[in-house]
Amino acid sequence: MAKKKENGEASVADASSRSDCTVPPALPKGELRHLLFRQSEHEAQRISDYVEWQAHGDEEVLHAEKVASERVFGREYDVWDVHTDKERWWVVTNPTNLYSQTLMPSLDYTLSFHSRECLLALVQGVIDGSDIGQGDDLPKTADFPGWNDRVANALARGSSAEHFRGYLKTTGERAWRLVNWLTHAANATRVDAELALSATSHVINNYALLIVRRKATAPDRCGRCQSYKVTVDWRPDLGSVGEYVVRCESCGAEKFTASQRRRKRKRTAPADNGLPN
Ligand SMILES: [Zn+2]
Repeated sequence: MAKKKENGEASVADASSRSDCTVPPALPKGELRHLLFRQSEHEAQRISDYVEWQAHGDEEVLHAEKVASERVFGREYDVWDVHTDKERWWVVTNPTNLYSQTLMPSLDYTLSFHSRECLLALVQGVIDGSDIGQGDDLPKTADFPGWNDRVANALARGSSAEHFRGYLKTTGERAWRLVNWLTHAANATRVDAELALSATSHVINNYALLIVRRKATAPDRCGRCQSYKVTVDWRPDLGSVGEYVVRCESCGAEKFTASQRRRKRKRTAPADNGLPN
């Protein structure tokens, strides 16, 4: 049986509405921020300042957009897509770092790489200025498992810390294996990358419990406003590879160690904001 011929009205109507359709010109990048949600002006400004500072003033940020946000063990991880007048960057927070989208177009790969960098930065942060980094027979800089063992032995000493020490070693070593596998995996997915970030975050938080006491001598309460919201930030601008700084989340006061103050003075940076004990 022959099929009924379809009537052409609908397609004619489609064609006429298509012809009326005009593609609007692209919005100027500076206007995009008005269309975004999930991010505050303050956050975007902080990220923009960071990128411009890292670019030594050679680039101007035209647009900063938060493209992912995750809360892992009470720590917020954000990923920003930042357009400047010259480049496009991924900025991953906590600790904050930026990655060229020309070199790393894949965000998944960038997250894996960031995780790996975080673990190495963690080691440097722990050993910088500490006797853990002194002596013969030290592991190579990128030998995270070697440093992980050494740091765990130094931070969690004695028989009472046996289980904690074992846990630090195992989680650190496993996270390292995971992120290394991931940075070489051809078909890693976003879930894999987020798992790596989560594993890294867990390792950093484990060590942070011990490091905060040892390195930053964080007080329980802010000496200026008495708040208990005292946190420790990773500051990539300090030292040769970055350092931890105690900061009050309520009033913004910061506490630097004596060696950090000396170095800041040498670089004639702005005056210490002072978080008294
Ligand atoms: Zn305070």
